[in-house]
Amino acid sequence: MSADYLKDALETLKDSGVRITPQRHAILEYLISSMTHPTADEIYKALESRFPNMSVATVYNNLRVFREVGLVKELTYGDASSRFDFVTHEHYHIICEDCGKITDFQYPGLDEIEQFASHVSGYQISHHRLEVYGLCPECANNKVN
Ligand SMILES: [Zn+2]
Ligand SMILES: [Zn+2]
Repeated sequence: MSADYLKDALETLKDSGVRITPQRHAILEYLISSMTHPTADEIYKALESRFPNMSVATVYNNLRVFREVGLVKELTYGDASSRFDFVTHEHYHIICEDCGKITDFQYPGLDEIEQFASHVSGYQISHHRLEVYGLCPECANNKVN
């Protein structure tokens, strides 16, 4: 499954004329296998032992390249650190208010909201963003004990 994602992603880079460097390969691999919406810093920490010359800025620049070709989404939350999400399919996020973990979930049918919003406002809608907040199972468990 994730091997296919990686293959497709590398294909997309090639088609977009983006050079595939060992770093880019490793960052993609990490994004696909972790599925945890990491920050650039977390990716850097996970890979720095393999790429001693790499900096957080390099990681960030590569993520920006991936974003431009549509492979990743950047999730900004008003604080300093964006999180990065490998784009597989449309999904929504549920966010733990305690530890900040982001979990994917799928829910169909919200395209209607875009049509409705466009209808009542006259805007051309580009996208929407929905986030659900709560306490993840681990944090809920810790609270009980
Ligand atoms: Zn949590
Ligand atoms: Zn996600």
